[in-house]
Amino acid sequence: MSKQLCQTKDTQFPCHQDEFAVPTFESLGIQTAKFSPTTPSIYFCGNSLGLMPKDVKPAVIRELDAWSARGVESHFNHPDEPVAAPWVDVDLPLLPLLAPVVGALESEVAAMGTLTSNLNALLVSFYKPKGHKTKILFEKQAFPSDYYAFVNLVKLFGYDESHLIQIEVPQNHTYLKTSLILEAIDAHKHELALVCFPGIQYYTGQLFDIETITRYAKQRDIVVGWDLAHAVGNVPLKLHDWEVDFAAWCSYKYLNSGPGAIAGIFVHEKYTKDNSPDNFAPRLAGWWGNNGQERFKMLESFDPIKSALSYRQSNPSVIDVVSLHTSLKLLHAKGGVDTLRVKSVEMTNYLLEQLQQSEFYIDQDDHKPNYGFQVLTPLNEHERGCQLSLLFKPDGLMDKVFGYLHEHAIIVDERRPSVIRLAPVPLYNTFEQVYYVVKRLNEGLDKFKP
Ligand SMILES: *Cc1c(COP(=O)(O)O)cnc(C)c1O
Repeated sequence: MSKQLCQTKDTQFPCHQDEFAVPTFESLGIQTAKFSPTTPSIYFCGNSLGLMPKDVKPAVIRELDAWSARGVESHFNHPDEPVAAPWVDVDLPLLPLLAPVVGALESEVAAMGTLTSNLNALLVSFYKPKGHKTKILFEKQAFPSDYYAFVNLVKLFGYDESHLIQIEVPQNHTYLKTSLILEAIDAHKHELALVCFPGIQYYTGQLFDIETITRYAKQRDIVVGWDLAHAVGNVPLKLHDWEVDFAAWCSYKYLNSGPGAIAGIFVHEKYTKDNSPDNFAPRLAGWWGNNGQERFKMLESFDPIKSALSYRQSNPSVIDVVSLHTSLKLLHAKGGVDTLRVKSVEMTNYLLEQLQQSEFYIDQDDHKPNYGFQVLTPLNEHERGCQLSLLFKPDGLMDKVFGYLHEHAIIVDERRPSVIRLAPVPLYNTFEQVYYVVKRLNEGLDKFKP
């Protein structure tokens, strides 16, 4: 595709970059004679931290104004609140926006806490070792935070690491085939209490077949949870229909809520719709999971809300909530994940095509020592989100290429020692930007050629 064709594609698939604050050469502190300081960067790093929607700043300032104007009274009296919820219920208007993003009923989602702490809280209540079924199946290259959660979970229950079963990407493969996961589930079905995978693998960009894996494990009486950090806002999800038991995600990646902002959980309705003080699975609980009518009576009786909200422990950060609310409204105004996914698939396919045309492209099954890069992500568009992960060879090359891209204000994500992750995000990236990223990548590789 030529640059002109890119421009045609960009007319066909609109980009909403104007709605976001995009860093510039100047704001990034990159000095060069080649570009004017106000030239925008090319930001391909939404897999790590999404850009800030411009509407977030005024929304946050309104809450600071409410705090300064009325202090504690804003919990119940918040007349100029644009989302029509006083602080005591500030997160509730998020539910109808969050539910479609993950394919859930409104009663199955909650905005709360942070990813790892939510994952820990859900693991503690859903991991129910019984008889021989005491082990957890997950992947060998899991995100470290998730690994720490699993190890410490089994230790909390008095077991050791032998209770963790990890599946590894086979030698000379770059990702994990679904069939391997199903085989492992079947082989260990008598000893597994829990299966927990990422929706999209952070390092390789592989999108797992959530539906197939979930059904397969559940047919074998195993609880199934998902870490959706890289999947939420990136690919369409149908957690309710797929009968996922629980899931957790952060919202600062593809949901653009801001660094460390409030995360989210899914708990299938079958676990909460009969919630009553007597019929209630023990969990990490707090006053915000309690019936709102009773909450401020300060009683010593816990009357859980009959929804995923019963997993909330604390009152949420209002600043976080309005930030996520603002970005979710933008996401829906631009058609939601289903619409954006169409552009996303086209754009990532285009990125892949451009990479495959590079003289430095190395095939996935070529294992000879070589100069260039290999794509680790599945080539099939149904097995990935927007991200492609590039492994640079030989060692030491990735840092140089990363530096070259950065000099040109191309913001990507490096995973030492050798991987760069490129994430063209449909909300704020364009086909033309893909064209430039690959052009600069080729220039860099040419420059550092031995
Ligand atoms: C981003 C990410 C995290 C980060 O966890 P926090 O609790 O938000 O710091 C954890 N796990 C996975 C798989 C991630 O991609």
